[in-house]
Amino acid sequence: MNLKNRLALANLPTKIEKLERLSKELKKNIYIKRDDQTGTEVSGNKIRKLEFAVKEALNRNCDFLITCGGIQSNHARATAAVAAKLGLGAYLVLRGEEDSDLEGNYFFDKLLGARIKFITPEEYREHRNEIMERIKDELSKEGHKAYIIPEGASNGVGSLGYYNAMLEILEQQRQMGVKFDAIVCSVGSGGTYSGLYYGNKVMKNNAVVYGINITEDKEYFVNVVESLLRELVRYAGEEIEIDRNNIDIIDGYAGLGYAISRPEEIEFIKHLAQLEGIILDPVYTGKAMYGLVQEIKKGTFDKHDNILFIHTGGIFGWNTVQRSMIR
Ligand SMILES: *Cc1c(COP(=O)(O)O)cnc(C)c1O
Repeated sequence: MNLKNRLALANLPTKIEKLERLSKELKKNIYIKRDDQTGTEVSGNKIRKLEFAVKEALNRNCDFLITCGGIQSNHARATAAVAAKLGLGAYLVLRGEEDSDLEGNYFFDKLLGARIKFITPEEYREHRNEIMERIKDELSKEGHKAYIIPEGASNGVGSLGYYNAMLEILEQQRQMGVKFDAIVCSVGSGGTYSGLYYGNKVMKNNAVVYGINITEDKEYFVNVVESLLRELVRYAGEEIEIDRNNIDIIDGYAGLGYAISRPEEIEFIKHLAQLEGIILDPVYTGKAMYGLVQEIKKGTFDKHDNILFIHTGGIFGWNTVQRSMIR
């Protein structure tokens, strides 16, 4: 497989730490991979996918990146940062309304000079890809060649970033003398999970890769992952057996829906912050790790000895409502 078609944009490898006190609390070895530390402006999981997607954009001589996400999209912010770093233009299609408070990721999008178009949730759901195509045409009239990155960079090329992360994990577990038998991540657009799953299969590693969905439901994401895996096979060329029954999506932790927090999730984030000095985000990792802990307590992970949770970042995504829930 050709992993050379990649830009080195992230701080890799990210470290893996044992969560000593949480492990003691749950009587289970829990480790965390700090993909929240892939960078500062580019922090989080999206930069791993952009390493491959933006390389493809450069190979095609593009000078503009177009992508989409919610107003607090970590992916949009990372794309804006990469574009600025490489001297490319960035055009972000954001779901929501212009926010005069300039919070979090949206603030950085502005600071990084991205062009921004807001669309309604309905337009986003039904038409975001056409809208990005239209922007591409408009940019072309201005003399630019744009490259469209889909939501979360979750497509064949982007997901290679987490295939690469799986290789990194295998090397690290060898060095550490630990065997991670369960690898857990949150699932938002599915690319992180699909890349890890694909890497686990291609490398004939026998860990179970679990995804905890933070929006939609299991059925929805099994479909998303199945089609992403097919795309990955086409793109990367390495066949794997795709069995829907082995796509381990743990449902039940999306709570009140995308980016809406429940008090118990915020309480858990606060607990972990004070227990381990690690800050999760309320949209993805807070919900997913809260879910992981509930499932460990229920016995779902009894067959596993060493669990690796991927901290996919998101620290800039805290909004005013979620911040006000911290007491
Ligand atoms: C996008 C994102 C995820 C989800 O990753 P997908 O590949 O989209 O499923 C998880 N955590 C954070 C912080 C993210 O920004």
